[in-house]
Amino acid sequence: MEHREAERVLAEATITCPECGFAKVETMPSDACQYFYRCEGCSETLKPLPGDCCVFCSYSDQACPPKQKA
Ligand SMILES: [Zn+2]
Repeated sequence: MEHREAERVLAEATITCPECGFAKVETMPSDACQYFYRCEGCSETLKPLPGDCCVFCSYSDQACPPKQKA
């Protein structure tokens, strides 16, 4: 069932809210950076930290797909 491609990047990341600690597995867009993320725990809208391109780079355990490919 599972088909692996050579250049496949990790598309799922666990994002953790810095405000309340709520963590959720999210699927990252494969060819874009997500700049805003609304926490389901506290409804805070997260934005990337200075120097990061997206919320996944700042708050998740994965680098975003564009950075993984780079
Ligand atoms: Zn939160």
